Amino acid sequence: MASKTLADLLDPLTKPARLVEKLDKGRVRCFACAHRCTLKPGQRGICKVRFNQDGELRAPWGYVSAYNVDPIEKKPFMHFLPGADALTIGMLGCNFHCDFCQNWFTSQALRDPASEGSGRYIQTVTPKELVANALRNNAEIIASSYNEPLITSEWAMDIFKPGKEAGLRCVYVSDGYATPEVLHALQPYLDGFKIDLKCMSNQHYRELGGTLQVVLDAIKLAHELGMWVEVVTLVIPDFNDSNEELWEMARYLVSISPDIPWHVTAFYPTYKRQDTPATSARILQRAADIGQEAGLHYVYAGNRPGRVGSLEDTHCPSCNTKLVERSGYVIQGYHITAEGACPKCGEKIAGVWTDKPESVHTGGWGFPRSL
Ligand code: SF4
Repeated sequence: MASKTLADLLDPLTKPARLVEKLDKGRVRCFACAHRCTLKPGQRGICKVRFNQDGELRAPWGYVSAYNVDPIEKKPFMHFLPGADALTIGMLGCNFHCDFCQNWFTSQALRDPASEGSGRYIQTVTPKELVANALRNNAEIIASSYNEPLITSEWAMDIFKPGKEAGLRCVYVSDGYATPEVLHALQPYLDGFKIDLKCMSNQHYRELGGTLQVVLDAIKLAHELGMWVEVVTLVIPDFNDSNEELWEMARYLVSISPDIPWHVTAFYPTYKRQDTPATSARILQRAADIGQEAGLHYVYAGNRPGRVGSLEDTHCPSCNTKLVERSGYVIQGYHITAEGACPKCGEKIAGVWTDKPESVHTGGWGFPRSL
């Protein structure tokens, strides 16, 4: 008997989608992401993991391909309960096909034949088990990450609902290729949204599988809906690191709110982009200087721990007091008051902060823990 394909393994792990509009002749239109695929019976969406079965859109449900307890700084979120642990789950598939994806083996499942073996990571699990697991491990947050969470939003919402009832906060780590409908659907559950702003060139976005304006609009709408938004740009030499493009990104974020944290992080050669050199600390410093000069209050440099001066720390935008000291994912010092303010000048610091600052975990390893 022939061995099972990845699709054979994944297709049964689905439920009827809710982020869908029924059309005529058994066709459906998915709006879980901005591709808005219109699918006839038997067709798969661009993400490949959602598909029309006999006139019904099926959406992934009931499994993870990875789950770990990670420091929230790894997502990265710097203004969302620093030092807290996040039970982080991932599934398989993506709506983009970035040639520099660090998680390509799981994200490109069903899209890149080289990912066929990713099925071995599948573990079936229920929302109840995941929430219990988070509580047992003292995680304060559940994060949907590793692959693109938008394409499995029904699954995420079914975990986040009991998660929030149990007192957990919920976040997405996403490419931001979202429809307004999916953001509105997620709004009751989603406390934090980390969005990649990969570049300011629509042509480059098209090469990755999306369009620029959708992502710009999603950043704005998520912010307006009250989610805590942090934006990450993986700075890639000769792809998005010109001064002009960095200025454009920073100015756009300032136009929404100067309080949106902007992370400029270092690229390392990976997947199909092996010939581009890693991003130097000097390039990150230049990008951060641009962000600060543009008026952003909080700019961070990532993926080069210990090499970027104070760009891993949080400073008060009013008096420059160092409020959170970090080395990589490890919190070395925490000085934000229980009211979320600077202890020196009283300036309110934008973000989601603990009301028990004395309980913030400092020191330690800051590495993910497998479960
Ligand atoms: S999630 Fe996006 S790519 Fe997948 S079927 Fe829906 S609209 Fe298409």
